[in-house]
Amino acid sequence: MRQHKLALCREHYLQWVPEQTERFIIKYQMFTKGEKILVAVSGGKDSLSLWDILVRLGYQADGLYLGLGIDGGIDYSHESQRLSEKFADEHNLKLHVVDIEKEYGQSIPMLAESSHRGYGKPCAVCGLAKRHEMNRIARDLGYDVLATGHNLDDEAAVLFGNTLNWSSEYLLRQGPVLPEAEGLARKVKPLCRFYEREMTAYALLSGIEYIYEECPFAEGSQSIFYKETLNQLETTRPGVKLTFYLRFLEARKSGELFIEKNVRLGDLHPCPKCGQPTSTSDLCTFCRMIEKANIEAE
Ligand code: SF4
Repeated sequence: MRQHKLALCREHYLQWVPEQTERFIIKYQMFTKGEKILVAVSGGKDSLSLWDILVRLGYQADGLYLGLGIDGGIDYSHESQRLSEKFADEHNLKLHVVDIEKEYGQSIPMLAESSHRGYGKPCAVCGLAKRHEMNRIARDLGYDVLATGHNLDDEAAVLFGNTLNWSSEYLLRQGPVLPEAEGLARKVKPLCRFYEREMTAYALLSGIEYIYEECPFAEGSQSIFYKETLNQLETTRPGVKLTFYLRFLEARKSGELFIEKNVRLGDLHPCPKCGQPTSTSDLCTFCRMIEKANIEAE
């Protein structure tokens, strides 16, 4: 690991990753051993590794798998569900499975199709649905915190995009912890300081079976383009991604960023249908999207 000036054998690597994760959990005050954690798992290396690490560290962590109904010729959703269930069974862990189509009558591809004229590309629809459902389920089932497997490459790419667009509101919300608020569960990203390569190594060395294929909708996405751009920088300047992200967190914490002073988050009120906080005047964006798709399907 050039960026850390560190080389470890398998045994010590499998100790180092959980130790570092524990350090980040404490540093950013994510959660305690007494709290109930819901880990959003997708069948991928990051989320399954996160679940594995939290359980090894002695945290009370259950899993949540959201069925998105994405096929793309590789049966993506079925395979990712199978691997999530396999991991839960092998480790004797509790996994909640919620299928978006069974809940709302619409899968992500169906919503994306009906949203052509309204809500944009599949990833925008999918992100909206996942945020809504993960928050709803964490709160309905009484979890203290929702944990996701975002790694440093994910976070640096989001930061890069938000900086290029100078999206102050999004920059203000980005960080390892998004505190709970009225109607919103606390959200944490314990792997946010690990490179993607480091998580791949952890999953492989731990023997975790995960889905290798990318979601078919990921191809050509902006986040992949940003990741590739940052990877090119990283090859000539090892550690640049980590520095970019950590300096941003330091600047945010110290109040150096002018966005802290000038940006106010919109006023929120409960959606009349689902009760989740929204800044729109009527139904929240998720409920409007479902309503529109169901009307079109009739
Ligand atoms: Fe959803 Fe896009 Fe991720 Fe696929 S790539 S799971 S559509 S956000």
